[in-house]
Amino acid sequence: MISARIKGLSPYKTEKRSAKVKLSSNELSLDLPAEVKEEIARAVARIPFNRYPDPQATELKEAVALRFGVDPSCVVLGNGSDELIQYLCMAVGESGDAVFYPVPTFPMYGISAQTVGKERLEVPLGEDLDIDLDSSLKEIRRRKPILAFFSYPNNPTGNCFDKNKITAIRNEGVFCVIDEAYYHFSGKTFLEEALSREDTVVLRTLSKIGMAGLRVGVLIARQDVADYINRMRLPFNITYPSQVIAVLMLTKFYHFVEEAVNTVKRERDRLMDALRSMKGVEVFPSEANFFLFRTPLPAPLLQEKLLEEGVLVRDVSYLPRLERCLRVSIGKPEENDAFLEALHKVIEKML
Ligand SMILES: *Cc1c(COP(=O)(O)O)cnc(C)c1O
Repeated sequence: MISARIKGLSPYKTEKRSAKVKLSSNELSLDLPAEVKEEIARAVARIPFNRYPDPQATELKEAVALRFGVDPSCVVLGNGSDELIQYLCMAVGESGDAVFYPVPTFPMYGISAQTVGKERLEVPLGEDLDIDLDSSLKEIRRRKPILAFFSYPNNPTGNCFDKNKITAIRNEGVFCVIDEAYYHFSGKTFLEEALSREDTVVLRTLSKIGMAGLRVGVLIARQDVADYINRMRLPFNITYPSQVIAVLMLTKFYHFVEEAVNTVKRERDRLMDALRSMKGVEVFPSEANFFLFRTPLPAPLLQEKLLEEGVLVRDVSYLPRLERCLRVSIGKPEENDAFLEALHKVIEKML
C-alpha cells in the first residue's frame, strides 16, 4: 500500500557516532555560563506544557524578524528549515513537476521533492564546484522545472555559487529558493529580492547559530507569498519550549551567539591556513562554518583514524566530484587545535 515514491526514498544520513571533539554536523560550539543555563531552565519550568503553544509563535517571530531586519509579516517559521523545504515542494507547482538543484548539495531537497511526488532534476556541479550553467540551462529547457533550490553557501562544498548563474536560472521562469543556512558566516544574501519578488524566497535557520536542537527554521518572502505558505503550515509546528528558549537566545543572550559566530569566522581562516601548509592536503574555499579538504589517503580510512584520536569529521568522498574529501566544521579554538593535532599525527604516520 505504501507508494513506490516513498519506498524509493533513501533516508537522510546522520552521524550516530559520538566523539570527544564532534566536528561533523556544522553545529556551533556555544558555551553558555551556568547562570544562563539556569535562567533558561527556570523559564522552561514555567511553561504550562499541558497547553498548546502560540500557533503563530508571535513573540519568536518578532524576535527573528528583528534580528534579520525584516517585517514579521514576511516571515514563516518552520520546525527547522527542513519543514519549510517540504512546504515549498508542496506549495510550488503541481505533482509531477520537476525540482532542480545542483549536486552534490543538501539531501533534503531531493528527499522532499520525491516525497511530495515531484521529479528530481539534479545537475552535477562543474569542476570548480560552481553551477555548470550550460548543462543546467540545457536540462532546464528540456525538463522545465517549476522550482529550484540553491544552498548558498552550498553544503557540503562551502562555496557560494555565482549570483549571476542563479539569476540566469531564475530567468527561465523557475521559482528560486535560496537556502542561506550559513548566512551568519557568509554575509551574502538574496533578501532584497525575496522581499520584492514573487519567484524568490530565502531560507534561514537557527540551527547553525547554536540552536540546532530547538528546530527553528525561517522562511523570508514577500508578504503575499509568506501568507500562502502560512495557510498550509501545521498549526503548532514550533514547540512551546523551542519558542521560549529561542526568544531568550535571540534577545537577552544573543551576545553569546554573536561571540561564538565571530570566533568561528576567525578560526576558519586560521584552520584553513594551517591545513594549506600541510603536505599533500588540498583545501577548498569556504564561506560557511565548515570546509572541505582532500588528502592522498582514502577518506573513510582517514576519518576512522581521526576518530581514534577523538575527532569526528564527515566523510563526503562518496559524492560526485568529492573524491578523497572530508568535511570539517569549525569548532572552538581548543577543538580546532585537537583536530589539527590529530590530522598532523595521522598524516605524518600514513603518508
Ligand atoms: C544545516 C542545513 C539546514 C538546516 O536545516 P534545519 O532543518 O533548519 O536544521 C538547511 N539547509 C542546509 C543547506 C543546511 O546545511
